[in-house]
Amino acid sequence: MKRILIAAFLVLAAAPVAFAQQRPTSPRALPHVLLIGIDTLRGDHLACSGNDWIRTPNIDALAADGVLFTRCFSTAPWTLPSFASIFTGKTPYHHGAVGFDYQRLDDDNYTLTEFFDIAGYRTNGFVSINYLTPEFGMGQGFNGDAPQGLDPDLDRASRITWLGLETLRTHDLNQPLFMFLHYFDVHAPYTPPAPYAGMYYHGDEMAPGEPVLDFLRSDANPARNRNSGMYDWLEGITDLEFGVKEYAAGVTFVDDHVGQLMTHLKDEGLYDGMLIVLVSDHGEHLGDHGYWFTHAEPYQECLHVPLLIKFPKGSFAGTVVEAPISTMDLMPTMLETVGIRPPEMDGRSLLPLCAGQAGSVGSLLVAEQGGSVEGFSKALIDWPWKLMYARTQGIETYRLFDLHADPGETENLATVHEAKARSMRLRMWRIFDPESPLVEGRGAIPADVDEETRKRLEALGY
Ligand SMILES: [Zn+2]
Repeated sequence: MKRILIAAFLVLAAAPVAFAQQRPTSPRALPHVLLIGIDTLRGDHLACSGNDWIRTPNIDALAADGVLFTRCFSTAPWTLPSFASIFTGKTPYHHGAVGFDYQRLDDDNYTLTEFFDIAGYRTNGFVSINYLTPEFGMGQGFNGDAPQGLDPDLDRASRITWLGLETLRTHDLNQPLFMFLHYFDVHAPYTPPAPYAGMYYHGDEMAPGEPVLDFLRSDANPARNRNSGMYDWLEGITDLEFGVKEYAAGVTFVDDHVGQLMTHLKDEGLYDGMLIVLVSDHGEHLGDHGYWFTHAEPYQECLHVPLLIKFPKGSFAGTVVEAPISTMDLMPTMLETVGIRPPEMDGRSLLPLCAGQAGSVGSLLVAEQGGSVEGFSKALIDWPWKLMYARTQGIETYRLFDLHADPGETENLATVHEAKARSMRLRMWRIFDPESPLVEGRGAIPADVDEETRKRLEALGY
């Protein structure tokens, strides 16, 4: 039944302006699609986004050939709900995979992969963490290699790149290919291989002094699971800056893998005709708001992520879009690009913005954290204003920030701009039901995970 409903959307839409001449007429004419998800990559850690000390030449080159979105925000500060939003075009509140008892993406969601599957694509996914596997409901629509969690002791990026290149080498390219490659090497523990390790750090990380582990495992660090082993990689380190710089080294390491993929696509003559998307699911606290080397709260360092879209045939190449948009907008954008009419969802197609049509319908900019009614937070952005609401053991707090004047979110303006705070509060509770704020109309759907998977995720800080 679900397949029939999805098939009903496969009436090829009146193609947007830039694609009018290349509207697909058969599966053979559909462009190949590559979705690269780089876990935990902050939006401000790319040279093309203005960072003047990190080297990301391959991602920068991809941005130059496509559209760079400088204000893209994720829907959650952690992996499962955020990627579930990318794959459904919905808020976590609507797709229901928010954590705790709501750990699984319910099969009644229509996923991006399912649309590609029914449109005739071969759909392959290679991921580096169990949250993106079928046991968490994220395998829906993969008709080739379904995403499986890998052994975290392996060199993950090398493995993902190898699997991706092997698929490109062996797949019959007469059939359109949708491939999702997920890199986890920017995520803690920050342990990039040589020659990347230490490339940005020039101090002595083990100089005499207070071990950073003593601090990170103390109550001074508000992170959850701070004693779970998530900081073991900092044994013997005395300089927090070492972690900050090794995080960046991981970014450059993964950038090199993006380069390997692009080189292959160009060598094989595939690059020009492909739709290539690069996005992250969330950023990282690097000391911001008192959090270190984790992603816990929907502050901007966790919500602001890179988004680059290289369209087929060089459409919109070199465009920079500064309008605030959401990772939820990816699904309708990708579907519309290949000529599939997107169904109604929370996300909005970005094609009008790419074409320079100012005043197009704005994105819904919300983010959520927490799967328990005892402790959760919500964020609503109405640029440049951001309202953050938190409920912790029955205590409610509202904070209002001006992201333009105060991008670090240091000054709560909720009492100074009381009317603005009130109107955004009302808007927030029109989006979420204050009586049932976690998920809309769903029962708990826990994932069926084994003990080893659970321990592996705990060691990563989940
Ligand atoms: Zn993640």
